[in-house]
Amino acid sequence: MPNGSHRPSSASDVRPGRGGIAPLDQAAQFLKGVGPKRAEQLARLDVRTARDLLFHVPRRYEDASTVTRIGKVEIGQDATVIGEVVTKGVLPTRSGLRIFQAVLRDGSGQIEASWPGQPFLDRTIRKGDLLLVTGPVRFFHGRQIAPREYIVLGSVEDEGGSTAGKVLPIYATTEGLSQKVLRSILDQNLDRLLPLLQPEDPLPQALAQRHGLPTLMQAVQQLHRPASLREAEQGRRRLAYEELYFLQLLHARAQRRERTRRSGITFVRNDRLIATLYRKLPFELTAAQTRAISEIFGDMTAPYRMNRLLQGDVGSGKTIVALFAMLLAAENGMQSALMAPTEILAEQHARTISALLEGIDVACVLLTGRLAARERRDALQQIRSGAAHIVIGTHALIQEGVRFHRLGLAIVDEQHRFGVRQRQALGSAGVNGASEADAAGEPTLEIEDTQPPSDGAPPDTLVMSATPIPRSLALTLYGDLELTVIDELPPNRKPVRTAVRQGSARSRVYEFVREQVAEGRQAYIVYPLVEESDKVELKAATAEHERLATEEFSDLRVGLLHGQLAGDAKDATMRAFAAGELDILVATTVIEVGIDVPNASVMIVEHAERFGLSQLHQLRGRVGRGAADSFCILISDGGPEAVERLQILARTDDGFEVARADLQLRGMGDVFGARQHGLPAFRFFDPERDEDLLLAAREDARALVERDPELEREEHARQRAALKQRFGEREALFGVG
Ligand code: ADP
Ligand code: MG
Repeated sequence: MPNGSHRPSSASDVRPGRGGIAPLDQAAQFLKGVGPKRAEQLARLDVRTARDLLFHVPRRYEDASTVTRIGKVEIGQDATVIGEVVTKGVLPTRSGLRIFQAVLRDGSGQIEASWPGQPFLDRTIRKGDLLLVTGPVRFFHGRQIAPREYIVLGSVEDEGGSTAGKVLPIYATTEGLSQKVLRSILDQNLDRLLPLLQPEDPLPQALAQRHGLPTLMQAVQQLHRPASLREAEQGRRRLAYEELYFLQLLHARAQRRERTRRSGITFVRNDRLIATLYRKLPFELTAAQTRAISEIFGDMTAPYRMNRLLQGDVGSGKTIVALFAMLLAAENGMQSALMAPTEILAEQHARTISALLEGIDVACVLLTGRLAARERRDALQQIRSGAAHIVIGTHALIQEGVRFHRLGLAIVDEQHRFGVRQRQALGSAGVNGASEADAAGEPTLEIEDTQPPSDGAPPDTLVMSATPIPRSLALTLYGDLELTVIDELPPNRKPVRTAVRQGSARSRVYEFVREQVAEGRQAYIVYPLVEESDKVELKAATAEHERLATEEFSDLRVGLLHGQLAGDAKDATMRAFAAGELDILVATTVIEVGIDVPNASVMIVEHAERFGLSQLHQLRGRVGRGAADSFCILISDGGPEAVERLQILARTDDGFEVARADLQLRGMGDVFGARQHGLPAFRFFDPERDEDLLLAAREDARALVERDPELEREEHARQRAALKQRFGEREALFGVG
C-alpha cells in the first residue's frame, strides 16, 4: 500500500473530550503501554495520536495460505514458515559475532533459523514457542532460514499446536519497535479506542450498507484483527470506497459549479485557417486524432466551457491535435496559450508549430524564463496587444506580468509534470483578473480587460498527458475533466526493439551504437537524474560524458544535456543534435518529455533499474520516430527481480500495459508521484481491484451533489466536514469555504 496519511491528526469535527481535546486526538504518549520513548518511536511511523494508531493498519497479512510446510522449503526460496522451537541457543563465532539459532519443527520436517548479532533473542524466544518466520532460505550445513521478520505466535500448549484459520497482521515497524511491541500496544488500546471512531464515521450508514460495506469502526477492527483474509479485504474495501467517495464528491461539486457558474466561449467555425492547415499537413491524421479533434471542436463550439484531458501514448501525435484547437480559437480572433513543463520542450513546440504554420496567417510567440529582457518585453507586448495568436511557453506563462489580450484557449502539455494548482492556474484565468487560483495565492494568467468580450467567458482548457494510465484511474485522478484517449499510433511507427543487458555487455552495446552512427543515425545515452538538485547523479552524467567523448567515442561527436546547463548551452546542444551535428547525446531525463528527433534510432539507458517502467516507456518514445528500425537497450546490474521488471518493456510496446504492470509492482504513490503532483494519496484504493467501487462512488457522489449541491443540509454536515478535512487546500482552490 502506498503511504499517505489517512486522516491528519487535527480533526475538527469530533466531540471534545477531557481538557477540550477529542479522545482520539490525545497524544500517543498517553496510550496504554506507551511512554515517552515509545512515543518517539511511534512518531517515526507517523503515529502521533490515538487516531493515528488506529489507522496504522497492517501492511499485509500472513495466514496458512502464505505459509510453506517446513518439509517443502527449498534453498533459494523466500519462505514463510511456522514451527515449534525445539532447540535454541547462542553460538559464538571466531570473529566475535554471536548468533542466535533456533530449530523449528512442524509436522513435515525441521529447519534451522539463524539471527547473527542478536544473542538477546535468547531471552524472548523460548523452547516450545510457536514461531512464524519469513526470510530467504540458503544452504548452510543444511537448510537455514535468515529471518527478516519473526513473530512469536504463542506457545504450542496454549495454541493447541494449531494455527489453522489464524491471520497475522504484519505492521510497518521502526528501529526499536518490533512487531511484537506494536502488536501489544494495539492489543492494550484497540478495544477502548475503536468505539470512539463510531461518532466520526463520515459515511452515511445507508450508503455503506447499500454496497455491503462495514462501518468505519468495523472496518478498522477488521484490518487489525481479521478473522480471515477475506475480512481484512472487507475492511480495506470500505476505506477504499471512502477515499474514492470523497474525491468523487469533490469532482462532482467542481463539475457542477463549472456547469452552473461558468458558461464558456462559444467558438464558431469558419474553417479559414483549419482547412488550410489540413491541406498542408505532411501526413494523414489517424482516426484517433480525427476523433480527438472532433470531440474538442464539439466542446469549443458548445456554449459551456471545455475542460478536457487528452491522453495518448508517446508519439501518438497530440501536438497536432492541440494545434487544430488553437487555430479554431484564432479563427475566432482569440489567443491560445500552450504551456510545457520544460524550456526545451516549449522551444521545440514553438519550432514545430511555426513550421506547420508557414504560409498561414497566425503569429506564434515563445515565452520562457530565459528570454533576454528585450525579447521578453517584445513577447509580452505582442501577447498584450493580441498580435500573438499562439503563445507557447513554460510556467513563465503563469507568472506575473503576463497579460493576454483575449485568451480563448489554455492548453497544458505533459500535464502530469505540473501540479494540480499550476494546471488550474492556467485554466482559471478569470476575465476580470480575479480567479480561483488567485485566492490560493498562486500565480495566474491574467487577461487584459480593455476590450471585454461580450460573453466575458473564461478560456476553454485542454490538458494533455502521455502517462497512459488505465481509464478507471484517469477518471479517479481527473474526475473533474472529460476524457479523450488517442489509442492509436501513426501507421509508419515501428515498435522500439527493447532489450535488457548487464553492464558487462557494455562494450558490445557501444559497438552497436557505433554501427548505427555509421549508418547515419544518432543515439541517446541516458543517466538517471532523479531530482534536478541531485548533485551525485548529475556528476555521473557529466563524468560519463567526459569519458565517452574523450575515450570510447573520441572519434564521434558527443554532446551533453542536463537540466542545470545554462539555457543557451542547453538550447545549442539540443539544436545541434536535432540538426544532426552530434552523433551521441548524453543526457539525463530532461529528454523524457516530448523531444522529437526522428533521426535518433538508439537509446541506451544506464542504471535502468532506477527508473519506473512508465518513465522508461516515455524515454524510449524518444526513438522510433523516424522510418528506421529503432532500439532501446536497458543496462542494469540490478538483481533478478529488477531484470524481470525491465523485461516487461521488452515484451510490450503498449504504454497502457506498461502502466498497468508498473502500478501493480510499485503502487500508485510511486507511479504518479502523488504527493509531488498534488494528487490525492490513496492508501486503500487499488485501481486493479476496485473499479466497481470507483464507479459506485462516482455515482453516489453525483447523486448527492444533485440533491444538495453545497452539502448544506444538516444530515450532510459530517460529509461536508470530512471533505474539508481531506481536501482543505483543494477545496479552498475551488472557492469553497
Ligand atoms: P506526442 O503525442 O508524444 O506529443 P507528437 O505530437 O510529438 O506526439 O508527435 C510525434 C511525431 O509524430 C511528430 O513528429 C509528428 O509530426 C508525427 N505525427 C503526428 N501525427 C502523425 C500522423 N497522423 N502520421 C504521421 N506522423 C504523425
Ligand atoms: Mg507531446
